[in-house]
Amino acid sequence: MFDKVLIANRGEIALRILRACKQLGIRTVAVYSQADSDLKHVLLADEAVCIGPEPAVKSYLNIPAIISAAEVTDAEAIHPGYGFLAENADFAERVEQSGFVFVGPQAETIRLMGDKISAKRAMRRAGVPTVPGSDGALPEDFESARKIAARVGYPVLLKAAAGGGGRGMRVVHGEGSLAGVMTLVRAEAEAAFGDPTVYLEKFLPNPRHIEVQVLADGKGHAIHLGERDCSMQRRHQKVVEEAPAPKITPQQRTEIGARCVTACERIHYRGAGTLEFMLQDDEFFFIEMNTRIQVEHPVTEMVTGVDLVCEQLRIASGEPLSYRQEDIEIRGHAIEARINAEDPNDFTPSPGRVEEWHSPGGPGVRVDSHLYSGYSVPPYYDSLICKLITWGENRATALARMRVALDELVIEGIHTNAPLQQRIARNSAFAAGGTDIHFLEQQLVRR
Ligand code: ADP
Repeated sequence: MFDKVLIANRGEIALRILRACKQLGIRTVAVYSQADSDLKHVLLADEAVCIGPEPAVKSYLNIPAIISAAEVTDAEAIHPGYGFLAENADFAERVEQSGFVFVGPQAETIRLMGDKISAKRAMRRAGVPTVPGSDGALPEDFESARKIAARVGYPVLLKAAAGGGGRGMRVVHGEGSLAGVMTLVRAEAEAAFGDPTVYLEKFLPNPRHIEVQVLADGKGHAIHLGERDCSMQRRHQKVVEEAPAPKITPQQRTEIGARCVTACERIHYRGAGTLEFMLQDDEFFFIEMNTRIQVEHPVTEMVTGVDLVCEQLRIASGEPLSYRQEDIEIRGHAIEARINAEDPNDFTPSPGRVEEWHSPGGPGVRVDSHLYSGYSVPPYYDSLICKLITWGENRATALARMRVALDELVIEGIHTNAPLQQRIARNSAFAAGGTDIHFLEQQLVRR
């Protein structure tokens, strides 16, 4: 195992990684921007290095500064967390070229999965079902594109190959608007991601978002840890996640899980990863793979008992997987509510000083948060400030515990989306389980 790991992230995930390192006896290096010297994990780390000013481009995305911090502190490995540089293949490459271990997959895997067209192709070849659409990039000439769209059938979705974070996609309802939307999405993709490549997919009318967690050793051996349901979304951003997914049968879980495992073994995947699917009319369709730890990983940890971040570190250090597929058992149910520093009505960010912080507790309650009373949430970064996770023997118990935990949570001084989470936790359709990806937005519009 490593002696010292540098954590190239901030907020709750940096604290989560720090906890895993401490548990494994690994010394920690925190890197932080000038806005973040009072972050909880910075205060708890063995060493801390300031890597630049407030804007992320000058600090958390500053590759030379992060590599230098690893050099001066003599760290052995770099854990990127999620967001920032976690899925940046050039960063992974630079880390390894500089003699450090990147806690994640090989740079070429990140590159393969970062391009959604090559990712889809690789998955299709490995036997994973994908959304019907253009085989590769959508040709630029209109006539060819028109034929493809007609074959797939309207409505279709145009997506940027380099897209991410729910950006760079638009629905086309009929042939009349195809040319216009093609031009628009290409221009948007070029502006946002520096790559105008676009592909076309069948637009699924009311799917659920189901994703499969995998762990793989990079030597051709992989396991899956069941699925999560992340259908509760606003603007393609996940708001609530749970494991297992309601109304998925053990047989469906085994089948889709096995396909994901085969695909990961074929590409010699290394580390933790997530294959995201749309579930429409009981059929799974792969949409993309995330080659990193995800925000919602705790719900899987709660139902499997596997510490995913410790496993990431073990795999990166060259150890074999600690679990065989038959060791993985799904027990009970877990739900995660993302608490963001934002106005509960118009969702505008709400940074500022946290005057009071009271964390919920009790059986089956887990709180992943870097907050403390007196901490100031800076305006420069993602608004996620707390993940409230509850576990129960069954879904009803996990949900009941979520309602209690949300009632107990006190965050004063800033606005949060806790009132929205309260409404979701008390919603009868959510309680029944299996709502689609449009459900939350429809509720919001109704209000
Ligand atoms: P990103 O990388 O930007 O998150 P994804 O491909 O994962 O992009 O898609 C983000 C979201 O867009 C999904 O969670 C889903 O809500 C919606 N979506 C993606 N593909 C389709 C599709 N073919 N039909 C309907 N909705 C889709």
